[in-house]
Amino acid sequence: MRAVVVNAPMDFGVRDVPVPLCPDGGMLLKVHACGLCGSDLRTLRYGHRRVTLPWIIGHEISGTVVGTGSDYGGPWREGEMLSVGPVVYCGRCDFCAAGRFELCEDYREIAQAWPGGFAQYVAIPEEAVRLGTIQHVPPGLDPAVAAIAEPISSCVNAQERGAVGLTDTVVVIGAGPIGCVHVCLARARGAAAVIAADVLPGRLELCRRFGPDHLVNAAEADLVEEVKRLTGGKGAEVVITANPVPETQVQAVEMARKGGRVLLFGGLPKDRSRPGLDMNAVHYNALTLIGTTTFAPRHQMTALRLLADGRIPGERLVSHRFPLEDFAEGVRLAFEGEVLKAVFLPHPDEAEA
Ligand SMILES: [Zn+2]
Ligand SMILES: [Zn+2]
Repeated sequence: MRAVVVNAPMDFGVRDVPVPLCPDGGMLLKVHACGLCGSDLRTLRYGHRRVTLPWIIGHEISGTVVGTGSDYGGPWREGEMLSVGPVVYCGRCDFCAAGRFELCEDYREIAQAWPGGFAQYVAIPEEAVRLGTIQHVPPGLDPAVAAIAEPISSCVNAQERGAVGLTDTVVVIGAGPIGCVHVCLARARGAAAVIAADVLPGRLELCRRFGPDHLVNAAEADLVEEVKRLTGGKGAEVVITANPVPETQVQAVEMARKGGRVLLFGGLPKDRSRPGLDMNAVHYNALTLIGTTTFAPRHQMTALRLLADGRIPGERLVSHRFPLEDFAEGVRLAFEGEVLKAVFLPHPDEAEA
């Protein structure tokens, strides 16, 4: 089969490799689409501490079951189309026992512990069948869109934790694909107003299509002042940082209304992870800082439902589709910031039919 093999940082290409064996208790999927994630770009550039090269990455997968292994006990049958997230929970730690799978202390990931989905076929291990993030693709949903349920699931978790609701003004700092999803979700949850900010005009223009009430170019205007102005001086009930820039966390605290919630969604670079937050503002304004990362299976179910009924316009988020053979070209465009969300199709001729 054809697969993207990453040999070393910035050394990768589409190669012929053997089709994986169908694992005992697991499944073999024919990959329909695999989404390119910001974390994939980082791995392509720098490698990854949990990935031993050479390796096949790609963790936002949709595909059809073409085989099941011996002693297979899962609910999915041959011919069914699945959306597969990467995380496989341990099922044994306190957090798994409590149903807070997103906090699992010993999770593993497809594309790290097992080869990933930038390939024509991917093996789904028995552990993932029991404890993974796998859902049926809802009827009528484009499988290329279903592939990107994973990042959306993390956003669903975040806004659930932030209890975004009817009377909230929500600021989303960062108008990349994640920021655009947060805009849609805030809308779907009934937010009173949504403000999206970025420093790149091109990104703001792409984000406009997702219906924020206000777009702020934070390179030109003082974002804190602008949010204060748009909220009658009071600040926003919810601020979401959807970017890796430490200063935006400082700003988020400054633009939050009294009693507001700050969702720290984007991780920061390791050596810049201690921004100078004004903790007195947190204290005296009774703010809630909410750290949020990954998701549990129920968030993935919600994400697929939102994609299926159009409340998250997946067709608009997937800005680029490439045959897997054009992986290098797609990655180049993504590095250049030309792409909102790219998916790669390992069987493009069949996808057309
Ligand atoms: Zn991802
Ligand atoms: Zn666990």
